[in-house]
Amino acid sequence: MSILQEKTELLTKECKPQDECGVFGIYKNDDDINTVAEVYSGLFALQHRGQQSAGICVNDNGNFKCFKNNGLVSEALTVEGLDELPNGKIAIGHVRHSIYTKDKHDFAAVQPLLMRYINGSLAIAHNGAITNRAEIHKLLEQGGAIFQSNSNAELIAYVIASNRLQTFSIEEAVLKSMDMLEGAYSMVIISPSKLIAVRDPNGFRPLCIGKMKNSYIVSSESCAFDSLGADFVRDVQPGEMVVIDEDGLHSYTEHCGDKTSMCIFEPIYISRPDSVIDHQCVHNFRMNVGAALAKAYPVEADVVCGVPDSGVSCAIGYANATGIPYGVAIIKNKYIGRTLSMEGSNNLKKRTLEIKINVLKPTVEGKRVVIIDDSIVRGGTMAHIVDLLKKAGAKEVHVRVASPEFHETCYYGTSLPAKDQLISQKLSKQQLCEKINADSLEFISLQDLKSCATDNSVNFCTACFDGNFPTEVPTEQFEDKFSKKIKK
Ligand code: SF4
Repeated sequence: MSILQEKTELLTKECKPQDECGVFGIYKNDDDINTVAEVYSGLFALQHRGQQSAGICVNDNGNFKCFKNNGLVSEALTVEGLDELPNGKIAIGHVRHSIYTKDKHDFAAVQPLLMRYINGSLAIAHNGAITNRAEIHKLLEQGGAIFQSNSNAELIAYVIASNRLQTFSIEEAVLKSMDMLEGAYSMVIISPSKLIAVRDPNGFRPLCIGKMKNSYIVSSESCAFDSLGADFVRDVQPGEMVVIDEDGLHSYTEHCGDKTSMCIFEPIYISRPDSVIDHQCVHNFRMNVGAALAKAYPVEADVVCGVPDSGVSCAIGYANATGIPYGVAIIKNKYIGRTLSMEGSNNLKKRTLEIKINVLKPTVEGKRVVIIDDSIVRGGTMAHIVDLLKKAGAKEVHVRVASPEFHETCYYGTSLPAKDQLISQKLSKQQLCEKINADSLEFISLQDLKSCATDNSVNFCTACFDGNFPTEVPTEQFEDKFSKKIKK
């Protein structure tokens, strides 16, 4: 393969991981609040968690109505469609990124998902990935279930609806469903009279509770509360089910344990810097990462720059720790996020990456540059950035990475490529450094990364870096184990 072909191959891959989804919910106790408008604003704040589709479902006195579409929040949720939604008492919303390529444009997988069954209606919006999905799917299909999509949300809704037929309340049905579901699920559910928020016992994905006047809000991230002028109340605990109804907020903690494992990639990359997740201020976490990189891997340089968005806080931390000035060098076009998901020719994808990133020449010309990014997955984006910096006149480019090298894929809702496509599986650090044409390359160690937590009581999942999966991961052999569980 020629150098040109190799470079084109790197450039044409979609290089950054994505989170699957963001969820939002509101239970209105104030007449002057418009639930649809609040959910719409909340979804805007969560747009970074999913750009493929958006939707809102409202419960107006037991009548459920959904409006959802493919696209960004601003494209999918048109004024005409929103005007059709009632200003009901309870509403949920969802932004989505599918990890399954073939589902990207599948409207049946767009959430929230509304199900009508013998006990009434149920709407659900989910973030995460169910690791025993194949086993549950098979068992439900053997019982006559017909699925319309590949979505985890549809599977979960089926499990809850099936359990509801054998229990006395929706609370009991959801708790029983938690016995069956394995993996990552932070979700919001609307029943005919309740808003329910659930987080899996590992707490892989964030979920928190806010309050606006007397009304309760649930969101994937706290940044959505700030955009609404709401107050942060607390995180939903790993394993906790929170039920909000006309009597207030009720907490069910029977699934809470001490083996929690929040995704460490949330504060590194996925979450917004102005969010606080499980007591971690995301911006401060990233500043600490930058300082840790500076301590472990100092280098003589003239300017420190970050790759937007998540690399910026790290670069400020590195600059503060070393005294090297921080500079803005990478300008990212924020308006083509969806274009990265476009099917199309390699040329089109290559052009997309070129449009997406540009370099401010005056910041780097004639200088020794430290550039910090959150991660290197396939290597294409960083190769392109180093190339741009050198073309802009940088004398040296030293790459520092805010996460360790990826060695495994993720089964919990971050769309990392398969293990054999991860660049650190194929190349040593030195080989990768040469491939991206950097003057030096260093990754933060896992130990240093963990020490950057602003709350030492939080346990993290680090499986994509060290292979220590906190749960069993999907294989055929789990079928028997789940069969036993579902028959309990
Ligand atoms: S495997 Fe990696 S990306 Fe997935 S939940 Fe664990 S830390 Fe996060």
